[in-house]
Amino acid sequence: MALKRTQVLIVGGGMVGLALACALAKAGRQVTVVEQQARTHDFPAEPTLRVSAINLKAQQWLRELGAWQRLPDDRRCDYQGMDVWDQDSFGRIQFNAADSDLPHLGSIVENAVVETALWQTADALGVNLIHGVSVEMPEFQEQDVTVQLDSGDIILAQLLVAADGGNSKLRQHVATPVVHRDYEQQGLVATIKTSLPHQGIARQAFHAGGPLALLPMADPHEVSIVWSLPVTDAQRLCQLDETQFNQALTVASDNRLGLLTCVSQRVSFPLTMRYAQRWVYQRQVLVGDAAHTIHPLAGQGVNLGFGDAYLLAQQLNQLGSLNGQWNDAQLQRQLRHYERARKTAALRHIATMEGFHQLFRPRNPVLRLARAVGLKAVDKANPLKDFFLQQANQI
Ligand SMILES: Cc1cc2nc3c(=O)[nH]c(=O)nc-3n(C[C@H](O)[C@H](O)[C@H](O)COP(=O)(O)OP(=O)(O)OC[C@H]3O[C@@H](n4cnc5c(N)ncnc54)[C@H](O)[C@@H]3O)c2cc1C
Repeated sequence: MALKRTQVLIVGGGMVGLALACALAKAGRQVTVVEQQARTHDFPAEPTLRVSAINLKAQQWLRELGAWQRLPDDRRCDYQGMDVWDQDSFGRIQFNAADSDLPHLGSIVENAVVETALWQTADALGVNLIHGVSVEMPEFQEQDVTVQLDSGDIILAQLLVAADGGNSKLRQHVATPVVHRDYEQQGLVATIKTSLPHQGIARQAFHAGGPLALLPMADPHEVSIVWSLPVTDAQRLCQLDETQFNQALTVASDNRLGLLTCVSQRVSFPLTMRYAQRWVYQRQVLVGDAAHTIHPLAGQGVNLGFGDAYLLAQQLNQLGSLNGQWNDAQLQRQLRHYERARKTAALRHIATMEGFHQLFRPRNPVLRLARAVGLKAVDKANPLKDFFLQQANQI
């Protein structure tokens, strides 16, 4: 058993926790990350299932940290356009990077590939990376917080960051009240071969049951799907044989990419909105999905988390220290500022997602007409499209 000291202990080496670690280490902070899964410096040899749309703002920051440039070209697709339509009506909205003088609208990358690039970067920046162990619950003291690892080691930190995902145990440990909404949907995720090329366009078809996203991958004939469905439909689709599933998916995609063939497992995730009402508790602060989870229909979850990490790093990097020790009052002031600003950002996203979810859910013909007219109107009004693009490019 060893006792180790660190300025910041980040529990959770997902995309958000690692990005924060890099930003703090780059400014000379002493950082330790504990990740419960085993990790390596090698990119996964085989394609992995979970992908994210990383927006331009997040990419810029990850490049500044030195991580984005580590992504292998053949594991990333920079998408040039978006095509969103309503299957039940004539509503359609299209975005094009060139129309807005942008190099592209964002990139689709496997989560595991982004995590590996960040892991390598964090290591190069001198972050103390511990993996394959979990943490026992923390004990808070006046000047620090003590965390025991299940390996028996003990870490003493000035600040504990909970970056341990949507089911954050650290958040639960301090009994943080959470606003929770079960969408009663699951997100079915799979990798799909398409008979027609995707042409670098991210597509999304809205159905009465929920949206089907077809996210372009580096291979011009491969997309990753996120199909939001009522729970029973998701379960039924996961159990269909391959031929039946491929047919159902091709129909749901309106044949826009020709015949679709699933080439991976089909896995579904429960879709929930969660919003922690308190992000700072003594020497513990929440970031990323530990603080908020949102519906994946706009592909914004991790971008919002990067925004948390960006601001928290900025706040902490402004703090002066005496003998490596932060002044407690100043630390609390910076944390409160972070909490206020990022709660506002999270609530804005949650409200937008809620609006989309309500608009596209019901079978009500009046709402169907409203959303068709709404999509048409947005498609014609460039300032409105620009507004949507701006929203999608904030972190
Ligand atoms: C179906 C689906 C599709 C999505 N698509 C998109 C998209 O296109 N774009 C987008 O921006 N977002 C998307 N999201 C959201 C995105 O995946 C999440 O917002 C993002 O992964 C959150 O990152 P995180 O680092 O906060 O948490 P996580 O990725 O959950 O990472 C948490 C880490 O903490 C570790 N951990 C947990 N407990 C402990 C412990 N006790 N000790 C040590 N380690 C621990 C875990 O192993 C994990 O590595 C999607 C979500 C879903 C469900």
